[in-house]
Amino acid sequence: MKSNRRQFIKFSAIASSLFAFNKSKSAELMLSKTKKTVKPIVISTWRFGIEANEEAWKILINNGKALDAVEAGVKVPEADPNERSVGLGGRPDRDGKVTLDACIMDELGNIGSVACLENIVHPISVARAVMEKTPHVMLTGEGAFQFALSQGFKKENLLTPESEAEWREWLKKSDYKPKVNIENHDTIGMVALDMNGNLSGACTTSGMAFKMHGRIGDSPIIGAGLFVDNEVGAVTATGHGEEVIRIAGSHAVIELMRQGLHPEEACKRAVERIILSAKKRNKPLNEIQIGFIAINKNGEHGAFCLQKGFNYAVYSPDIKNQLIDAKHLL
Ligand code: ASP
Repeated sequence: MKSNRRQFIKFSAIASSLFAFNKSKSAELMLSKTKKTVKPIVISTWRFGIEANEEAWKILINNGKALDAVEAGVKVPEADPNERSVGLGGRPDRDGKVTLDACIMDELGNIGSVACLENIVHPISVARAVMEKTPHVMLTGEGAFQFALSQGFKKENLLTPESEAEWREWLKKSDYKPKVNIENHDTIGMVALDMNGNLSGACTTSGMAFKMHGRIGDSPIIGAGLFVDNEVGAVTATGHGEEVIRIAGSHAVIELMRQGLHPEEACKRAVERIILSAKKRNKPLNEIQIGFIAINKNGEHGAFCLQKGFNYAVYSPDIKNQLIDAKHLL
């Protein structure tokens, strides 16, 4: 009996040291796995990208999903009434209505989009709900609004006194003249690579100030304002949406990266296509601005724009949230 007990104790000692060995071994394995994790990166358009990146980074650095990061990131300017080209406080259309466009895309090619959505602060989250909860990929106007309400989003007035005052001033002449940089339009486009090597993107805007009611830009159009291919990279666009749609801009950049071009070079080539397309139609180049930003599967980033004045925010372990001036062609 005693010897049995002794044997048992001996066995459990060996077993527990084995277990400890296995445990440390698996911790080691986990560590080597962690070592292999991808360096995350998030980039986004314009100066408001800095604050948006901050929010996205909290998710990325905690091993969260790129999809969650980009949604959380772009929600920052959406909710900020002082950002006059996105979400709450966005400049209205010529009828005084704030109409929002947004889309989202994940690493599996899941997509969701809303266009001409009114009275909802976070169109990006409605776009995500379209992606996750409906058999469709795009909802517009009243249908998008009713869907948002059914998902628990609250109806809110997005027209702030500042935007209303600007619109009333505009009504005096009613002259539709999109400016070149951030003066009367802007988009937050954000793309991210997470530690698991997955890419996602989000894009949201109130579009061109004083546009016709019902006008939809590039921002909610997958392939134009945003595109993600988990084998290649992720791209988003800002600027005159009509020009971006014409060349399926973000998709064009993806295809150029697929051919091996660095993100910056791919963005540059797409801007050159915009120039060619505008020249064919005798569209004066000084009236348009386009900016593309891109990351590839290796976490390299780049951007390019048509005119001077476009910048983008980069957050990675090496570049801790900096605004970078994009190179320009004109
Ligand atoms: N691309 C947006 C639109 O055309 C505007 C912008 O990014 O400036 O609606």
